[in-house]
Amino acid sequence: MKLNRRSFLKNSLIAGTGLTLVPEAWRKLHAEPAKGSAKPAHPVVISSANGKRTTARAMELLKQSADPLDAVIAGVNIVENDPEDITVGYGGLPNEAGVVQLDASVMHGPTHNAGAVACLEGIKNPSKVAQIVMERTDHVLLVGKGAQDFARMHGFKVEDLLTDKARKIWLRWKENLSKDDDWLSTEVKEYGEEIRIYRENHGTINCCALDANGDLAGVTTTSGLPYKIPGRVGDSPIIGAGLYVDNQVGAAGSTGRGEANLKNLSCFLVVEFMRQGKSPTDACLEVCQRIADHTKLSYLLKKEGLPNFNVKFYAVNKKGEYGGGAILNGGKMWVYDATGQHLVDFPGLFKV
Ligand code: ASP
Repeated sequence: MKLNRRSFLKNSLIAGTGLTLVPEAWRKLHAEPAKGSAKPAHPVVISSANGKRTTARAMELLKQSADPLDAVIAGVNIVENDPEDITVGYGGLPNEAGVVQLDASVMHGPTHNAGAVACLEGIKNPSKVAQIVMERTDHVLLVGKGAQDFARMHGFKVEDLLTDKARKIWLRWKENLSKDDDWLSTEVKEYGEEIRIYRENHGTINCCALDANGDLAGVTTTSGLPYKIPGRVGDSPIIGAGLYVDNQVGAAGSTGRGEANLKNLSCFLVVEFMRQGKSPTDACLEVCQRIADHTKLSYLLKKEGLPNFNVKFYAVNKKGEYGGGAILNGGKMWVYDATGQHLVDFPGLFKV
């Protein structure tokens, strides 16, 4: 029989060390459901504050016994396709050069499989491409031109993702960058309020779900930091940074300053804190504290020594308990559970 690369590596490792691959005690511990994790009677879907339609769609599909990953992806596709959401997919704010570059990742609890795309141009639904990377390749992350070629191979159309609205916002930003250039600065009247709201609250959509069988999945999709340096990749497509799922424990996703999550592998850490028995809210706040402790660069600190940026987390555990946490001032998340759909407040580590 021909050995594929994975089984060859696995067999040669075992032969080389003479070790039992999985110690019995470890296997027993991990074969059991996470502590207190009875099967939930009802699915639970959580999402960032822009995920009202997302949670509704995902719940509708879960009630029809859809796979939890298919459900959350179908949910975020609504926002990716919406030109009015300037932080995700079609209509997202472009990079410094005026080009929309999208990042997304997906993770499927039952198979512990993941897929992602970064710096993807011209494709409205990066989350769907991430799912195909997961399902149709042995890789986890495709970027740039390779990701776009891959998407085209799978029938996706390349389109112009820059809407008039996003172009105008970007142009205002460019015109007002400096007084020492030849662009005449204009007052940011049109869309000014939206830019302010975006800067304070960030964008991106994350959605995680627990289905009625106790299986978890999650997706994070974004146009990333507006006006980023072309080629910049945020946390959203990096498994463990902007999304993480462990089917034994829970799922977590994030919005906000991606660089902080990249340096702290934050969503992995949220799930690890839940594994240690912390509630979803406490796990999220503990990671906010970790980020604050690790923030040393003076340009990222307020006078009082607090981070001058925000990051928000959304988490659900295997029991269907959910929660969120922010570094600054708290936030809101959409939750759809047995009691219906709710916009839920979550706490911040610091109030400013
Ligand atoms: N986390 C996203 C990124 O850094 C942006 C955001 O949520 O505002 O790309």
